[in-house]
Amino acid sequence: MTDTVDITIIGAGAVGLAIASRVGVAGRDVYLLEKKETFGLEQSSRSSEVIHAGIYYPADYLKTRLCLEGNRLIYELCETSGVPCIRCGKIFIATNNSEAEALESLYDNGINNGLPLKRLSRNELLRLEPNVEGTAAFLSPTSGIMDSHALMRYFNGKARESGVQIVYKTKVNGIEKVPEGYRVLAEDPSGETALTTRVLVNCAGLYSDSIAALAGIDTDEAGYRLYLTRAEYYRVDSKNMVNSLIYPVPSTLGPGIHVCLDIERRLRLGPLFYYVDEIDFSLDDSRKSEFLQSSVMKSLPFIGPDDIEPESAAVMAVLYGEGEPVSDFIIRHEHDRGLPGFINLIGIDSPGLTASPAIAGYVSRIVDEILN
Ligand SMILES: Cc1cc2nc3c(=O)[nH]c(=O)nc-3n(C[C@H](O)[C@H](O)[C@H](O)COP(=O)(O)OP(=O)(O)OC[C@H]3O[C@@H](n4cnc5c(N)ncnc54)[C@H](O)[C@@H]3O)c2cc1C
Repeated sequence: MTDTVDITIIGAGAVGLAIASRVGVAGRDVYLLEKKETFGLEQSSRSSEVIHAGIYYPADYLKTRLCLEGNRLIYELCETSGVPCIRCGKIFIATNNSEAEALESLYDNGINNGLPLKRLSRNELLRLEPNVEGTAAFLSPTSGIMDSHALMRYFNGKARESGVQIVYKTKVNGIEKVPEGYRVLAEDPSGETALTTRVLVNCAGLYSDSIAALAGIDTDEAGYRLYLTRAEYYRVDSKNMVNSLIYPVPSTLGPGIHVCLDIERRLRLGPLFYYVDEIDFSLDDSRKSEFLQSSVMKSLPFIGPDDIEPESAAVMAVLYGEGEPVSDFIIRHEHDRGLPGFINLIGIDSPGLTASPAIAGYVSRIVDEILN
């Protein structure tokens, strides 16, 4: 490994790859260090693959701004690069009066965020989704689905083309402040390795709080402590019954179990989110009843109890504990903590995949200010 470089990024998930594809300009030495044998094996390969529109969060959240921009950029890059996506739209459904009230406030929030939402009459809902039932509904036409693996392959290819060195099986386990910037210590197949970098970008996803701590940041005091949530998906044995993503009114943690479609339009339900203490991707059907009793199932009468079975599990790191409100992304240059050149990305939960190209632009502007 070269001894002194301009930029080092820790973590080759969708966000680290997107940043690598932006900051690798001529004349810069850029390294992307990833502990696994390939990219995207943690949060980024286990998502719902939804291109979110930016409905849920307050207008002044960075999350909202980057989601709105990311939504536009993802469609643009899909068109020019061949990354598969479908602008299938998303329909939010209420199945009773109290859900209808919550649906209205979600609609108002989306309108406040500048989205082209459309309330649907019963007939309009029936025309768009003949197999779906609901008492009130609205359509988000800019929501869609993407092939997240193809998106990561695209960022990976762009990063490599611009000369970024992507180094796998290299786990960062130490960060020392030195006069030139940071000495990054890592474990690789040959044992220990190290490099010195002027700029260090922490995109370690589930472990981004630990990486911040390695640089000497008190994560509790900084508000960087991450909580783990597990997400479960169930496959549905039924084809061509819906055309759009079908969402309930959101629950307290996450968007609530909804109808996901993949790029082949295969149908699955999820994610069911709950807090956990450790990372575990094993599968069982102990929470099947929660799926069967979920709000969205009331709008999907064609799915019976025997039509669903566990498909996959994921883990997402969030900055809010049980019962706390959803928090914003943290993307921060830590110069005022005595760490100039160190940029933390913490709590990049959903819609981080959608926002990834916009996050890359945001971080690359910070990097330019540091290096120029
Ligand atoms: C269940 C679920 C559903 C989701 N659905 C959607 C959706 O529909 N739409 C959407 O826009 N977003 C969605 N998201 C959010 C999205 O997936 C994440 O925001 C995004 O993948 C985060 O990417 P990342 O690169 O920050 O993290 P990750 O993908 O977790 O990548 C971090 C990388 O860092 C590496 N790493 C960690 N520690 C070290 C170390 N010490 N040294 C070297 N490497 C290290 C890891 O191996 C990993 O590859 C969902 C997330 C989950 C979990």
